[in-house]
Amino acid sequence: MTKRLGFNFHNIDTVVGHCHQCDEESILVAIVTEYYRCTNCGADTKQHINGKISYIRLSESDKEWLRKNGREEKR
Ligand SMILES: [Zn+2]
Repeated sequence: MTKRLGFNFHNIDTVVGHCHQCDEESILVAIVTEYYRCTNCGADTKQHINGKISYIRLSESDKEWLRKNGREEKR
């Protein structure tokens, strides 16, 4: 099993959404499923679907999850 690391550029997922951090409509890039990063200000958000799609601020448990699952940026 290979470990899942950061971005997969072959299947990159971008959406346009409203970022809570910079308060702009901007392009959000998927980090991992459901988690997106704003290309405008760099904030991480979580996709939340509840009738309509919105992007919400990460909770501490979300950040912890990301640390374990998708944020191992090896450079
Ligand atoms: Zn932003």
